Amino acid sequence: MAGPIGVRNPRTGMVDYWIEPPERDRLAERCDRLRTAQLDWQAGGLEQRIEALQRWKQSLLARKQKLVQALTADTGRRTESALELDSVISSIDRWCRLAPQLLAEPEPKSSAIPFIRLQQQSVPYALVGVISPWNFPLLLSAIDTIPALLAGCAVVVKPSEIAPRFIKPLSEAIAAVPQLRDVLAYVEGAGDTGAAAIDCVDLVCFTGSVATGRTVAEAATKRFIPAFLELGGKDPAIVLASANLELATSAILWGSTVNTGQSCLSLERIYAADAIFEPFVAMLVQKAKRLQLTYPSVDSGQIGPIIAEKQAATIAAHLDEAAAKGAVVHCGGAIEALGGGLWCRPTVLTQVERSMKVMAEETFGPIMPVMSFSTVEEGVALANDTNYGLSAAVFAGSDAEALEVARRIDAGGISINDAALTAFIYEGEKNAFKGSGLGGSRMGPAAIARFMRKKAFLVKTNSAPDPWWFDLPKATDDMSD
Ligand code: NAD
Repeated sequence: MAGPIGVRNPRTGMVDYWIEPPERDRLAERCDRLRTAQLDWQAGGLEQRIEALQRWKQSLLARKQKLVQALTADTGRRTESALELDSVISSIDRWCRLAPQLLAEPEPKSSAIPFIRLQQQSVPYALVGVISPWNFPLLLSAIDTIPALLAGCAVVVKPSEIAPRFIKPLSEAIAAVPQLRDVLAYVEGAGDTGAAAIDCVDLVCFTGSVATGRTVAEAATKRFIPAFLELGGKDPAIVLASANLELATSAILWGSTVNTGQSCLSLERIYAADAIFEPFVAMLVQKAKRLQLTYPSVDSGQIGPIIAEKQAATIAAHLDEAAAKGAVVHCGGAIEALGGGLWCRPTVLTQVERSMKVMAEETFGPIMPVMSFSTVEEGVALANDTNYGLSAAVFAGSDAEALEVARRIDAGGISINDAALTAFIYEGEKNAFKGSGLGGSRMGPAAIARFMRKKAFLVKTNSAPDPWWFDLPKATDDMSD
């Protein structure tokens, strides 16, 4: 792998941190050791694994300040960094609580054939690879790791090279738990390290862009291993004429701009019914203007810097194209350079068209382009007019009316009269539609099942010949040789 990689600080624009990716051979050796240790990890049983994860939780809590500081340096925002750690802690508790029931082997039962008993066993994949993005660096590196560990797998995690400072304190927290340190490793590095990790693992969980997701899927296919892909989105919000506009504008503003819009489940396209279009836009703009940048103090305001320099270029390109094609900018509308960081204020656009990048491609910024629709059919068609299908939101005067529309939207997680609820509700199983992903649900009970292969033991319980066996002709002397 290439030598050290410099890491840019999103608040200052300075490269002030370096990571040292492992050589390919070293990474392979590390993965071999994880794979060997997995045997004891699996054999030790679930109770021991739960105990180890609980110790990890304590170890993370003991390093809370260091972790939040590192994440804040990685991302330029503090509130969400603390929330990331809280969310990982509650995910450990949730999975430890659920795992005994979800991993319990079912009682043997009779099959459709009365004299054949069916017994099942689930066998974990030995080594899982997790490759994660920069927008929620800690949370998204842990979301698949925790259930995989409880299932009995060893895990190697390759977080994004754009936000890797948290890896050090996190690795310290792992090293402090003897049972865990042999089966969980975080490695620093860029895409080539991620690609090398795929060559070593038995299953890969990838969270990132559609483009890289395709490359990862191809690499996994070549190795004949499963790949679970959680990719980008261009989530729509539909606001029906009956919606509570006070509620809809507050929810959409949050869902579009939290974490500066750098979220896969950000609302990036808003469709408002003709009848309420003008008051809706006026209220959204009025609220959007009240949000402040977290500048100069990280503890003021709500909108942090754009974390990745490359993303600022994408946001700028989408905004420039929209403006050139006639979009009206009601607030925000440009990238601002402040203190070396790159910032974008909440932006509301109207007079947008389906062909504009800001309506068609993932922007990953605090941008709210609003279009009107005249019939519900048109609203649904516009919402589905995309290559993505991650999540969505529908606002209406009643749950029933909103659900009627939500059933027709091609997306996995749909918030009703709220936004981005899949960030909080982990119980509901959901799949990505279209280009937003591939593989089983990362949420709900199915999430842990992704890390197991099922075996069926089919046990004959009598000594009589099975009715389908050969009815052999009686042996004669002639045939006996
Ligand atoms: P990215 O695809 O550029 O990188 C993601 C990870 O893949 C990084 O760790 C990177 O180093 C690694 N990588 C790059 N090339 C690789 C290769 N050839 N083989 C293996 N690994 C490789 O994505 P990003 O810019 O870090 O993240 C932003 C994207 O992630 C957005 O599209 C966003 O929507 C998506 N995302 C999706 C979800 C979800 O749950 N669906 C959640 C968060 C972010």
